Amino acid sequence: MQEPVRIAVIGAGIVGTSTALALRKRGADVTLIDRGEPGSGCSAGNSGAVSPASVAPLAMPGVLASVPGMLFDAESPLYLPLRHLPHALPWLLRFVASARPAAVQAAAAKLNAIHAGALDAHEAMTRELGVPELFLRQGHLHLYPDAAALAKDAGGWRLRESYGFKAERLDRGGIEALEPGVAARYQVGMFLADHATILHPLRYVQAMAGAYASAGGRVVRAGVAGLLPEGGRWRLQGPTESPFDHVVVAAGAWSKALLAPLGVHLALESQRGYHLQFEGARDVVSRTVILADRKVFVTPMEEGLRVGGTVEIGGLVAPPDERRAAMLGRIARDTFKGLEHLPTRTWMGHRPCMPDSVPVVGAAQGHPGLWLACGHGHLGLTDSLNTAQQIAQALLGVAPVSTRSGVALAAA
Ligand SMILES: Cc1cc2nc3c(=O)[nH]c(=O)nc-3n(C[C@H](O)[C@H](O)[C@H](O)COP(=O)(O)OP(=O)(O)OC[C@H]3O[C@@H](n4cnc5c(N)ncnc54)[C@H](O)[C@@H]3O)c2cc1C
Repeated sequence: MQEPVRIAVIGAGIVGTSTALALRKRGADVTLIDRGEPGSGCSAGNSGAVSPASVAPLAMPGVLASVPGMLFDAESPLYLPLRHLPHALPWLLRFVASARPAAVQAAAAKLNAIHAGALDAHEAMTRELGVPELFLRQGHLHLYPDAAALAKDAGGWRLRESYGFKAERLDRGGIEALEPGVAARYQVGMFLADHATILHPLRYVQAMAGAYASAGGRVVRAGVAGLLPEGGRWRLQGPTESPFDHVVVAAGAWSKALLAPLGVHLALESQRGYHLQFEGARDVVSRTVILADRKVFVTPMEEGLRVGGTVEIGGLVAPPDERRAAMLGRIARDTFKGLEHLPTRTWMGHRPCMPDSVPVVGAAQGHPGLWLACGHGHLGLTDSLNTAQQIAQALLGVAPVSTRSGVALAAA
């Protein structure tokens, strides 16, 4: 009888764990390796939004104008501390170049492809895992102070519409009908009625890891220091496992350092995001509410009201900047009543971001047996299940599909 293919998946975030599960379901011998508990990286604290309409990349025309604010204003939604500028400059230049209209159109097409079917796929997955209560399909409500603020985002809304995502425009009455607690600051809304939310992103990954283990998948807790090709297979530095036929690098923002010694240079940068959670706050909102002028997501999580967002291009090492989380708390208290005396907790995570917002999913060219599933940026929860399917199909020999297999690798 033929031995099953031996595969290591490095990184047990939402991307690695869903990939390990998809591979295991197809009969492969899979080892999921993480230095921490499954889901404890960026996937623990995100805003839970399943957002297939988010086809607009972060770098949109006009982004250059935001660079001065980004560099000098610690309260700007997009902040790059000066100390990190020399390190981040090459990435920043690519980011600005990605805002060219043709580059935006190309990125949007790729994002639309990898978002396809995400809503139904996550709904089905929560059912399969026995946690259907984690899936809330009540829409996403984007809020603006006025028509002028909405007009600033017109490019993004046009792009969504061109891919068939129809939002309903709401006036103040329409906003109040959906979310009566929103402050009068917000007068204009855009409502995506079919969008959904995962109400406890960490519990979702844990449930997935549990299903994977029940299906016979191995979880190893170890840091991987390097990948060594050895006789057509891959030996990992750190874990004591014997060599693997294939390795999938799904190590989020840390993937770049693991791949660089192999000559695979990804233009990957951490965009540090924060959340502040009002513990136990219930019924403040009934769905994901996006304060679009402040780029803040407000989510009715199982354990409380989560206020997430902000981008800080500050690298993987520096400690969290508590001013960023405090800013989220202030914005929430300005927008909703009754939050003043609730206990809060804060969190920071590293979004693994490519300059054009398109994840890197597929085979690493020139490195047989090496696969990449990283760079999911602001949408790794949304795109995790499609990434898993693409990798599983390509790796196990059915319908090779890839979003950007090899393209970014040579030049990055
Ligand atoms: C504030 C915020 C809000 C967000 N909101 C949303 C949202 O609403 N919707 C959405 O779709 N996305 C959202 N995101 C983005 C999403 O969270 C990420 O894209 C996603 O979590 C990335 O998943 P990942 O598995 O690639 O990385 P991670 O979850 O970071 O997992 C990588 C794992 O690799 C492990 N690892 C790394 N290096 C090694 C090594 N050398 N050896 C062993 N293990 C290693 C780490 O320990 C970690 O567990 C948000 C992000 C933030 C910060």
